[in-house]
Amino acid sequence: MKQKDKKIAIIGAGITGLTIAYKLKKAQIPFVVFEKENRIGGVINTIAKNGFVFETGPNSGVLSSSSIVQLLEDLNEYSQKETAGKNAAKRLIWKGTQWHALPSGLLSGITTPLFLWKDKIRILGEPFHHKGKNPLENLSALVKRRLGNSFLDYAVDPFILGIYAGDPQYIVPKYALPKLYNLEQKYGSFIGGAIKKRKEPKADDQDKVTREIFSMKGGLQKLIDALEQAVGKENIKTNCNNLLITPNRVGYQVSGNNNLSGQFTHIVSTVNPAEYKALFPFLKQNDLDIFMRLPYAKVTGVTIGFNNWEGMPLNAFGGLIPFKEDRNILGVLFMSSMFGNRAPENGALLNIFMGGMRKPEIAALSDDEIKQILKEELSELMQIKNFNPDLVYIKRYSKAIAQYGSDSEARLKTIAFLEQKFPGLIFAGSIKDGVGIADRVQQASNIAGQIIEG
Ligand SMILES: Cc1cc2nc3c(=O)[nH]c(=O)nc-3n(C[C@H](O)[C@H](O)[C@H](O)COP(=O)(O)OP(=O)(O)OC[C@H]3O[C@@H](n4cnc5c(N)ncnc54)[C@H](O)[C@@H]3O)c2cc1C
Repeated sequence: MKQKDKKIAIIGAGITGLTIAYKLKKAQIPFVVFEKENRIGGVINTIAKNGFVFETGPNSGVLSSSSIVQLLEDLNEYSQKETAGKNAAKRLIWKGTQWHALPSGLLSGITTPLFLWKDKIRILGEPFHHKGKNPLENLSALVKRRLGNSFLDYAVDPFILGIYAGDPQYIVPKYALPKLYNLEQKYGSFIGGAIKKRKEPKADDQDKVTREIFSMKGGLQKLIDALEQAVGKENIKTNCNNLLITPNRVGYQVSGNNNLSGQFTHIVSTVNPAEYKALFPFLKQNDLDIFMRLPYAKVTGVTIGFNNWEGMPLNAFGGLIPFKEDRNILGVLFMSSMFGNRAPENGALLNIFMGGMRKPEIAALSDDEIKQILKEELSELMQIKNFNPDLVYIKRYSKAIAQYGSDSEARLKTIAFLEQKFPGLIFAGSIKDGVGIADRVQQASNIAGQIIEG
C-alpha cells in the first residue's frame, strides 16, 4: 500500500498516541488522533500554582532507550529536556528508624546495614548459581534464589515499588523486567552478565542512552505541548466520546458522538483494556476476558509543597519504603532538589505515592485521612517539626500501572492472534512492552516503524 493511501486512527492522546502521531507526521502518512478527554497528555499533567510547579501523574522519565533520546532531541526546538542534578544518583531506603543510601559500589555494598552479612557473603557466589529453568518464576523467587532475602526486601522490593507500585511475588521478570531476566538466561548471572555486557561494543545510538532521570524545563506537560505543536492541533480531536470501531471490507469505520465518522486503514489503540469492550464490539468475550485479567495497581499520588523547608536535607532522588517496614507511604521523591524552579527559593516540593498492589485500601481513604497519614508518617520520615505544608494536592488513579505476571504469555498470544485476524488493528499502550515513559516512546516508535514499512 502506498504511504498516501494509508490512513491511521490513533485512539488516545497520551505519550504513546502522540509519539506514534509524530512519527507518522514525519513520514507524511495521514492520521487522526482521537481523545475522549478535553485535554491531551493522558496521565502526564503538570500544574503551576503559588510558586510550585508539580506533576499530578508521572514525575520524571529515564533516558533508557534510544527512542526517547531521539524524540527529545527532535522536539528540542519546541521544548527542552532537563536532566536531574547529581543528587538524583543517590537513592534512600528506609530501614527501622532511618534512611540509608542504596549502595552504589563494592565498599558501600559491604558496609551498608540494609543487607544481612550472610547475604553479602552469599552474593560472592551469585555468578556460580545455576540459572533458572521456569520462565514464569516470579521476581521474589528469582531474587531469593540468586541473592537472598535481605536483597529482596531492601533493594528489589523498593525498586519494584518505585516502578510498578507492585508486588515481587506477582511480577514475572520475563515480561516485567526482560533485561534482568535475560542477564540470567544469557550470561548465567546478574553480576557476571552486567560486567560482560558493559564490555560488549555498543550500537552507535546507545551512547546517549545514559539512564539519567529527565523531565522538561517547566515539567513533563511541556513534552506533551511540544508533541502537540509538532503533530499539529488540527490532527488531534478531543472530547471524542463513545468511540466505536467497526471493521469493513476496506478497513475500519470510526464513529462517535457529534456525528464523528471516518474510514481508516489502520487502528492503533493506546487505551486501557477496560475500554476495549465498548470500542471494539467485534472482539469475542474470551479474548476480552484475557485482556481484563491484566491487573493495574491503584496509586494515590500526593504533592506537598513548603515555602520554607525546615526538614532533613533533600540531597537525593528520594526515598523508598520497603513493604516490610509496614508504612502507608511507598515513596517520597524530592522533586525540588532534582529539577529547577519547582518550589519557591528555600522551599521544597515532595511527590509522595501511596497504595499500590499491596495496599489497595489506601485508594478508598478520604482526603482528610490521607492528610492525617502524611502528617504522622512524613513528620518522622522527613524530620519535619511542624507539619504545615503550603500546598497539598491529591490525585487517585484506579488503574495506574499494569502488572505483568504469569498471564502475560496468554495476553501476548491473543494480541498476535487478533492482529493477524484483523489486519491493520494494532494494540499498544500498557498492555505490553513496559510501563515507563521511555517504554511507551520505544513502543510507539516501533509501531510507527511497522506502519511506515508495512
Ligand atoms: C500515577 C502514575 C505515576 C507514574 N509515574 C511514572 C514515572 O515517574 N516515570 C515513568 O516513566 N512512568 C511513570 N508512569 C507511567 C507512565 O506515565 C505511563 O506509562 C505513560 O505516561 C502512559 O502513556 P500512554 O499514552 O500509554 O497512556 P495514557 O497516558 O493513559 O493515555 C491514554 C489516553 O487515552 C485516552 N482514552 C482512554 N479511553 C479512550 C477512549 N475510549 N477513546 C478515546 N480516548 C481514550 C485517555 O483519556 C488518555 O488520554 C506513571 C503512571 C501513573 C499513572
